[in-house]
Amino acid sequence: MKRITKCILRKSLDLWSRCGLTAPYRRRMKGACILMYHGFTRGRNKGLENNSNLHLDIEGFRQSAAMLAKHYHVIPLHELAERIQAGDPVDDNTVVLTFDDGYASNYHLALPVLKEFGLHATIFVPTAFVEREIYQWPDRIEYAIARTQLDRINLEFPGLPENLDVSSTGKRRIALQVLDQGIKLIPQDKHLASIAHIEERAGAALSQEESPAEIYRALTWAQIRALEASGHVSIGAHTHSHLILARCSPEVARRDVGKCLDLLRTMAGIENPTFAYPNGQPGDYNDSTKRLLMDLGISVAVTTNMDFNLSDSDPMLLNRMGSPRNGHEADAICSGLIPAIKQQISKRTSLVPHSNSHAHAD
Ligand SMILES: [Zn+2]
Repeated sequence: MKRITKCILRKSLDLWSRCGLTAPYRRRMKGACILMYHGFTRGRNKGLENNSNLHLDIEGFRQSAAMLAKHYHVIPLHELAERIQAGDPVDDNTVVLTFDDGYASNYHLALPVLKEFGLHATIFVPTAFVEREIYQWPDRIEYAIARTQLDRINLEFPGLPENLDVSSTGKRRIALQVLDQGIKLIPQDKHLASIAHIEERAGAALSQEESPAEIYRALTWAQIRALEASGHVSIGAHTHSHLILARCSPEVARRDVGKCLDLLRTMAGIENPTFAYPNGQPGDYNDSTKRLLMDLGISVAVTTNMDFNLSDSDPMLLNRMGSPRNGHEADAICSGLIPAIKQQISKRTSLVPHSNSHAHAD
């Protein structure tokens, strides 16, 4: 039911934008909107691949880029941060593009679009993904459920369902939704163990795959250097192992972020990068996390809290909006129309959280 309501809302906003009704909102929009994307894909995916829609169709991103280049001021994240740090006013209609997690599709699919429209984006990289030490957990679960030879998967892990019906594609989609919800509630220190348990019981693991499907691949160091050299991309840090910092001990957090910064420096010559908090919701970072990052030389960090950024925003806690799927949706978000509607719904029902869930919670 929730999905149907969301779909109707999306279609209505799409129509609204197509009719040019976002223009008045655009003129009233105050502050800067930082958009957050992950990976990209082209055309239809096979089977359960991209079941979570983490990877956006590149044509939708191209439409967004065309619209943003025409109607908004798209600037690099570090430029926005410099203005805020200097106490300068933030121009209205300012937009910043960010991509999380360092998927190879940022290089193959998104870079040509950025070049075509003269835009800039910041890519936040968990360096263990680039080092081929980890895959992203939503991709691991998707792969395990898609590739299992079983009809039922028996699990024995606190917080996960005991029995999963995976006897058809439809049942597998439901199983993925159930697992996604369950895993997000498992404590951080048990998180990786829960995913490994699912893979083991399913008898299929992306972590053992040497040539994974295109959408699951990480950027290589050569691609990272080429992205930086293109002038259209800045590489930011996203921890080494994609750890949720506030849920780790200070020693583990310091070691993990330090390793990420060392690798970015030695492998790609990147000094003092900007930073994205993994998951990025309140509770995923705190004052100690912020201080630790500043100790390590980081002066700009983004969350996943859904809001615009003004000249008095904290440069270590910048807000971001979710991934628009096409130009009309991007306009509806960046103009402030969608946030305004959500705020109204939130006021009336007090049920809609004023936050933006990261597509994955690791
Ligand atoms: Zn992430």
